[in-house]
Amino acid sequence: MTSFNPAAFRAFAAAIGQEWVMTSAEDRISYSDHFAADESKHQPAAAIAPATAEEVRAVVRIANQYKVSLWPISRGKNFGYGGAAPVMKGAVVLDLSRMKKIEVDAENGTVLVEPGVSFFDLYDYLQERKIPLWLSVPGNSWGSVAGNALDRGVGYTSYGDHAARICGLEVVLPDGDLVRTGMGAMKDNPSWQLYKPGFGPSWDSMFCQSNFGIVTKLGLWLMPEPESVQGLDFEFDKPEDLGWAIDTIMPLRRDGVIQQSPSIGNWLRSAAVMTTRQQWTKDKGPLNDKVVTAIREKFKIGWWSVQVRFYGPTEITEASLRVLEKAFDKKPILSKKPAKWTRGDPPEGSPVTGVPVSFPLANANWHGGRGGHIGYSPVLPPKGDLAMDQFKRTYDLYSKFGMDYHASFAMGDRSLTNVNQILYDKDNPDMMGRVDAMFRALVADASAHNYGEYRTHIEYMDLVADSYKFNDHALRRLNERVKDALDPNGIIAPGKSGIWPKALRGERS
Ligand code: ADP
Repeated sequence: MTSFNPAAFRAFAAAIGQEWVMTSAEDRISYSDHFAADESKHQPAAAIAPATAEEVRAVVRIANQYKVSLWPISRGKNFGYGGAAPVMKGAVVLDLSRMKKIEVDAENGTVLVEPGVSFFDLYDYLQERKIPLWLSVPGNSWGSVAGNALDRGVGYTSYGDHAARICGLEVVLPDGDLVRTGMGAMKDNPSWQLYKPGFGPSWDSMFCQSNFGIVTKLGLWLMPEPESVQGLDFEFDKPEDLGWAIDTIMPLRRDGVIQQSPSIGNWLRSAAVMTTRQQWTKDKGPLNDKVVTAIREKFKIGWWSVQVRFYGPTEITEASLRVLEKAFDKKPILSKKPAKWTRGDPPEGSPVTGVPVSFPLANANWHGGRGGHIGYSPVLPPKGDLAMDQFKRTYDLYSKFGMDYHASFAMGDRSLTNVNQILYDKDNPDMMGRVDAMFRALVADASAHNYGEYRTHIEYMDLVADSYKFNDHALRRLNERVKDALDPNGIIAPGKSGIWPKALRGERS
């Protein structure tokens, strides 16, 4: 499938305006994965930016006519997973960032956003109108509300499982049809953002991490501003503390006392954002214990740190805090620090209170040079001993490949996600060679323990999809049957999550 067909581009320009069809070398660079050592590997042929769902439909019809592959993005800030770039080199990025409508139902705590609405846009919208609703934002909140939820991004409040808070979508299907899911299937139904199932099968999750459609509106539940937020910041002294700390927190997570996902992470999380490696050592290879101790002293942190937070009426957050204190009574913690925010206090400026931030992006500077990182995030059962094993094996692989350990364990309702950010300097070819080999070793290690990743970078989507092997890849075969039924020309995001349309299956790596 060739993506750069001049007749197709003339048709796109006629449909949405010449200025929104971007085909120069500079444009191609803009939409590349800026964290990749070789940006050309997944470089798009061009980008086009429609402004309305009707324009998206027109683009999709033209793409079918000329067999042009489209890679939809909302804002394309999916750093660590490929940014704006497509899996398949030469696909055309469908940039939806001009679509910026916001409709808030303040009473019911919901919003309907178009793909271009960023976390900062929505935050400003709510603040300017004094609407007492809070966002859940990812650690680096540069991206869009819709794109993040569709890629199953996570945040730190009790609304942190973003995909789980989706309620109703508007989607342009690969043949240009326009569908609204759930109650939106009934014209002007007032419960589109209120009742998730709808009538008959529910399709919202079908459009998450998939290539079955282009989402043009996304409904999301927002947290009513709580009366108070209370919690504790714990520090733990030793690597081995990870196991019992998880076993102490998880029962409270399971029984609903803790409703957010505490993320227990190591010392490099702070150091990489606030400092550069050069400030600590000139040595290559993983950081030695002396440096780790110096970092911990400077930031007054443990080997591991975790923030636990409760949201709601003060009577309830206070009672919850007492339950948490009791659970940690006599446990060998290094330190704990109380945190409290009460309605009327100025915003804390932190993701745990729903305020978007972008400063964590600074961790790309850790090694100097043109920096970047890649995410590796297997999911495992929420048990301390399994987490300790996972930590030790992964830590050994970081050491073997000479990289600095940067990881956390996020505690979901019933699972642990081991989120790793492998930080690198993409101008260092030796290091980049090691990163690729290390990533493959990490995936092989997870697979050997029957753990799968929840999300991955465009370069490794086939690798990760391949690790879901049950019954000769029955799930991938199902996904591809659906793909072929909905998208016979294979125009939407070929290769996303390892799902290839029939005509392009030979591209699978
Ligand atoms: P962000 O806006 O947070 O930067 P992206 O735009 O990079 O997020 O989106 C993350 C991924 O989710 C994209 O690579 C794409 O595969 C998918 N995606 C994003 N927006 C849409 C959309 N509106 N419709 C379908 N898939 C989307």
